[in-house]
Amino acid sequence: MHSTPPPSPPARPRVHAETVAGDGLQTIRTLCEQRGFVFTAMRQRVLQVLVDAGSPMKAYAVLEEVRRTQPHAAPTSVYRALDFLLGQGWAVRLNSINAHLYVPPGSPARCTYLVCEECCSVQVVHGAETGANWIDQARITGFVPASNSVEISGRCAQCRMPT
Ligand SMILES: [Zn+2]
Repeated sequence: MHSTPPPSPPARPRVHAETVAGDGLQTIRTLCEQRGFVFTAMRQRVLQVLVDAGSPMKAYAVLEEVRRTQPHAAPTSVYRALDFLLGQGWAVRLNSINAHLYVPPGSPARCTYLVCEECCSVQVVHGAETGANWIDQARITGFVPASNSVEISGRCAQCRMPT
């Protein structure tokens, strides 16, 4: 069965989250040292691609962007760097659109991602009254959530506006 792939994220960043802190890269470099990881050139490059995008990116789009400056970059090394950032909490994978979003260091662990299925924009909502309650309820049942964030798919205010 042929299914239509979800639309690519818009060229213009439409993340309505807080802006990326200018010292984010330096903070991450310091955290890597503290955690005993090497902040390799590829990890730094992939992180920079996500930071510059300011919006969710599919893995192959990250690879394409890296290859603009490093034409021979291997997919595995790019995807491994992406996995590293996910593992450290500096990126999140949004399953509904199969894309990755930069998470500034120091961001609250618990948040809700409102993902627009139409334009792939993401709004990040922080606050104890949002996703946190669901996560706590899950834990009460003995379920251990794999992440502290909640992802909700739908249509953003802009896409709901009549054209
Ligand atoms: Zn939208």
